[in-house]
Amino acid sequence: MEKLRYERPTLKKLEAGMPGKFGMPTSLQPTTHIDGVAVKELIDEYGSPLFVLSEQTIRSTFRKAQRAFSTRYPKVQFAWSYKTNYLSAICNVFHQEGSWAEVVSGFEYDKAIQHGVAGEKIIFNGPDKTEKDLAKAMQNNSLIHIDHLDELYTIIELTDKLNVKPKVAIRVNMDTGIQPMWDRFGFNFENGQAWDALNKIMHTNKMDLVGLHTHIGTFMLSANAYGVAAGKLAELAIGLKQKFNHEIKYIDMGGGFASKNTLKGVLLPGYDISPTFDDYAEAISTALLNANFQQDHLPLLILETGRALIDEAGSLLGTVISNKRLSQGKRTTIVDVGVNLLFTSFWYEHKVTPAQPFSQYSEETTVYGPLCMNIDVLRENINLPLLNKGDHIVVHHVGAYNMTQWMQFITLRPKVVIIDMEGKTHVIRENETQESITSFERMPEYLRKFD
Ligand SMILES: *Cc1c(COP(=O)(O)O)cnc(C)c1O
Repeated sequence: MEKLRYERPTLKKLEAGMPGKFGMPTSLQPTTHIDGVAVKELIDEYGSPLFVLSEQTIRSTFRKAQRAFSTRYPKVQFAWSYKTNYLSAICNVFHQEGSWAEVVSGFEYDKAIQHGVAGEKIIFNGPDKTEKDLAKAMQNNSLIHIDHLDELYTIIELTDKLNVKPKVAIRVNMDTGIQPMWDRFGFNFENGQAWDALNKIMHTNKMDLVGLHTHIGTFMLSANAYGVAAGKLAELAIGLKQKFNHEIKYIDMGGGFASKNTLKGVLLPGYDISPTFDDYAEAISTALLNANFQQDHLPLLILETGRALIDEAGSLLGTVISNKRLSQGKRTTIVDVGVNLLFTSFWYEHKVTPAQPFSQYSEETTVYGPLCMNIDVLRENINLPLLNKGDHIVVHHVGAYNMTQWMQFITLRPKVVIIDMEGKTHVIRENETQESITSFERMPEYLRKFD
């Protein structure tokens, strides 16, 4: 075995506050307002818990990303990853900003159509596209990203039936130096599967091979991995040009950029260690510009960024139900925000701040949700000022995945509001009610009655 190279460790000095007479003072600031709207007023009007999205933050984050890429590469197109947050109002903010739609199911596909996205601006990813989904996407001229050979053969069958030449790309997985490697989706680069699939597509001549796609992982803390991936896709594109004199139209680098959240088990906060859009853009654009594309024949660069575009725009407001001490004396605070609403609390150390002014001192606290379940822990250990029953809290950076992966479990899901560019609030999803949930249920006649 080759000996691993010695890497010099880096030391970073961390400044911590000095303890006072009663313990550690806190440098936390209360979050009394979001985009100028008082948290207390939001809860009074719409209830607690409450998801709040900032349109201003969404648009400014998007523009930052757009700028990072378009200043480095001449042709850039974003496609909004629906599964990250497919509330219609949120999708439309991204569509207004010029994003296409990136979908991974028939349900999401229909949602994009419902929003008015043109068929040719919908990218259809994922391993589970039914024959019906594929036929619809083919007739709408959408961009179908083939995940496996069975899908490829279904499409070939459909081209005869429907008499259309669909626009397709393949999803490629590859070694970018990052573990674990995501090789369950698409065709592998290193073992030749990807090149096999491209040859099959070219020789059947029934599809229009327009692109190459990859999505190397999620919350990728290495910008360099994207440079490696872009280089490998460029190599495939150049191979197609050489063998078939065929030019693909785009290279789609997928999503996976890290947001500013802090991952569990990582010592430093996301703000300090997550790469910026500029870092990712530099890695990707350099790899593509250095590849052997002829001048004026650069492929369009598509990005399907999800979480990094929306996480910071979302907050979850809640209310303190109670404080108590565990058997060994540890302080705990129970709030009305549970993991049923906050799927990402399994991965992130979410920042939680009080929504009202507080006294100087804080204590190591466990924050529990309201569910009657041992796993309902929002934060295992967080230094919080002493909150009282009825106080409000703000959980930060919750815009990605929570409003799609939340569960109706024990309690009902709350309202979602957006604060618009003028500071006005709008409900974009109603809270669930007893009726809305039970309306899905059916009672067999014989179970109607009991004594
Ligand atoms: C989930 C997903 C994305 C978005 O990923 P993020 O990590 O949220 O940026 C993009 N493309 C595909 C194919 C996906 O499955």
